[in-house]
Amino acid sequence: MTTVALKDVTKVFRDGTLAVDSINLDVNDGEFMVLLGPSGCGKSTVLRMVAGLEDPTSGAVLLDGELANDLPPRDRKIAMVFQDFALYPHMTVNDNIAFPLRLAGVEPEPRGERVTDVASALGIGDVLGRRPSQLSGGQRQRVAMGRAIVRRPGLFLMDEPLSNLDSGLRAELRAEISGLTRELGVTTIYVTHDQAEALTMADRVAIMRKGVLQDVGTPTQVYGRPATLYVAAFLGSPRMNLLEASVYVHLDRYVTLTLGEQALYLPWDDIRSRAVAHYHGERIVVGMRAEALTPVAPDTQGDVLHGRIRYLEHHGHESLAFLDIGATAIVVDEMGARVEAPVDQRGLRRLGQVVQRLTGRAAEEEP
Ligand code: ATP
Repeated sequence: MTTVALKDVTKVFRDGTLAVDSINLDVNDGEFMVLLGPSGCGKSTVLRMVAGLEDPTSGAVLLDGELANDLPPRDRKIAMVFQDFALYPHMTVNDNIAFPLRLAGVEPEPRGERVTDVASALGIGDVLGRRPSQLSGGQRQRVAMGRAIVRRPGLFLMDEPLSNLDSGLRAELRAEISGLTRELGVTTIYVTHDQAEALTMADRVAIMRKGVLQDVGTPTQVYGRPATLYVAAFLGSPRMNLLEASVYVHLDRYVTLTLGEQALYLPWDDIRSRAVAHYHGERIVVGMRAEALTPVAPDTQGDVLHGRIRYLEHHGHESLAFLDIGATAIVVDEMGARVEAPVDQRGLRRLGQVVQRLTGRAAEEEP
């Protein structure tokens, strides 16, 4: 089994491109770590440095606590799967999967057993006699996975392995890959720019932007308490509402949060007061997820925000209302809305104006 530690790892390519900027990251034994970020943010470069395919310009890559900067890739007990995995077209599925074992000099009998085990774990036991051209895209990707894990690597590195597949298959393989690596207990680093993939598969997600690590945490942590405004705006669909607000802590123990023209008066023991109280006298950005907001009837008293619906968007499993709250647009998840009628265009006219109650925890950061 393997742990990975990156200490102040920087990569500057020969042409001067700063691809990775002083990254510190620990991956625990058996953990499924996802590197997430937009195209060009340096994810693949991090992966390639862990694999030994690129040398860090500075900093240390540690595998199992040992400095590995000068360790050749073949001595790293690593298996990699890429987006454009290449199978040997003239070989059967069986021989493709068995290939790394043959290279390692494993005897035919244990070799056959291992191939059968891996193929049945991946659900491709019945196509072992076929050639790659006779397989579907998903089956080919499973063969590539099988070939990578058959030697029981300590560390599994995957770079966008599903990006060439259609969305139904991706969702299916997502669950299979994370299930399989967990079953095997193999430490995995998985690169993707697809946040649904990241949030569903990861034990922890590391989010990068322009070579810099922005946040590391469980999917719930990075989604609910993002460390930076960038992560807050990047993760989630619809995007998190980010509203500028001023904070005022009153001596008789309540907090005013002023958002544009409107103010919320929050009791002292309210979780939201505690989240913002130490920014007394400052302007901050408050983050609110759509699903943390509950539409209420227009005449509701209490800490509510008033907004006018600009438009509604129906997505089947949820409907979103986009509202103007003073100068700021905000999006609200309509599921759980306490309105009697479905909020269609008719309902919209009838409601005219909805009032929003803030029910969620605020993710805040200084602007
Ligand atoms: P993608 O999701 O598109 O694969 P990424 O996040 O994996 O992107 P990297 O491939 O790590 O990003 O690239 C990070 C930056 O380094 C990019 O600006 C890229 O153009 C640059 N880069 C990558 N490889 C080299 C190279 N060999 N020489 C110069 N620049 C490079």
